[in-house]
Amino acid sequence: MEKPRDEEIHTATKEEMDKVRRLLVKIDKMKKSPLKGVSGGECPTCGGICDYADDLTFEYYTPGGKITIANLKGLECRRCGDQAYDLKSVGVIEEQFRALPPSGYEVGISKLGAGKLGIYFTKDLMRVMDFKPGEKAIITPITRRKMVVEI
Ligand SMILES: [Zn+2]
Repeated sequence: MEKPRDEEIHTATKEEMDKVRRLLVKIDKMKKSPLKGVSGGECPTCGGICDYADDLTFEYYTPGGKITIANLKGLECRRCGDQAYDLKSVGVIEEQFRALPPSGYEVGISKLGAGKLGIYFTKDLMRVMDFKPGEKAIITPITRRKMVVEI
């Protein structure tokens, strides 16, 4: 796959951001979640049944510690517990993230030989992540200097 060039990455314009903001305000004015009363939806993770819940909790680990955001609304799977948040709750989560200083785990890039480079996951990172040796990871380049690693 060809790497996307920086100029090919779409940066949200002010107009697009305003549109999202207006949408979130509109949902806020509805005073109830558009997902309320929804039941029987199929879980995309396990195929179980999802129900509306207004007591969901979002947890996120940063190098500074764990962040917990409670009282979110959305759908929760009865079987595997997977959660999907409504737009208002996503807005709440995004607001919390914007308040965070940029952070991450620093890792070194090592030469592995024969045109290969490697990065090592530190103990700090292993403590907050859920993966084992031998598992596969998918790396998605976002820009020439930014990538996302999914296990
Ligand atoms: Zn599920």
